Order: sequence, then C-alpha cells, then structure tokens
Amino acid sequence: MSDKVRKSDDEWRQQLTPEQYAVCREEATERAFTGKYWDHHESGTYRCVACGAALFSSDAKFDSGTGWPSFAAPATAETVETKEDRKLFVRRTEVHCARCGSHLGHVFDDGPRPTGLRYCINSASLDFEKKG
Ligand SMILES: [Zn+2]
Repeated sequence: MSDKVRKSDDEWRQQLTPEQYAVCREEATERAFTGKYWDHHESGTYRCVACGAALFSSDAKFDSGTGWPSFAAPATAETVETKEDRKLFVRRTEVHCARCGSHLGHVFDDGPRPTGLRYCINSASLDFEKKG
C-alpha cells in the first residue's frame, strides 16, 4: 500500500482522544466490556479511528464472549499487519493498521471456522460506519 499515513506523536495526540491515543499509539488494551463495539450488531464497516482505513466488516464479527469486538477475518488481507508480541510470558500476535501503524489488538487462533482466527480488537481503535 502506497498511501501510508505517518504522523508525529504530537500530531496523533492532537487528533485522538486520550483513550484512543493510549490504545492506538501506546498499545494499551481497553478493559473488557467497556468499549462501545463489543456488543454492537449493526451492519457496516469498522474503520481505523486514526486514519479511516476500512479494517473489518460486520460480516466477520462474531460474539466471542470476551468483551472486545471480535472478528474472524480482516476486511482484506492487506488491511492489517501482524507482529509478534513478546512483552508478556505468553506469546501473542499484535494486529496493526497497515496504513498508519496504529495498534488495534491481537489475533488468536481459537476463532470460528473457516478461518479459525479471532481478531480481538479494541473498540477505541475503531470507528463504525453504518451500511447504506
Ligand atoms: Zn489506521
């Protein structure tokens, strides 16, 4: 993708709310069942709150019971990037927006068929756009 978005920390800080900044730029995780999208069931597109890239479709969203918005697949394979996270004792795979590098959440391999993946995403990193 050639339209990468790069901004300084100050620019991100001005654009994002403190909660969005903590999640997207400092890789924080919002508390379960507190975000605005974990129990959200409308049809549409979940975009990156930082750059507007279309990240996930509501078609791939499923109720994981974790308290975070969960998706079986990204909108397209190019829309997100993953990176191994070794900060904790358990190895996890981080999910980032491919366009602006914002931290979105993590992906686990215990999702529903056919992908078997569970993209566990912070509501704070998403901006929902209703279909139609
Ligand atoms: Zn982005």
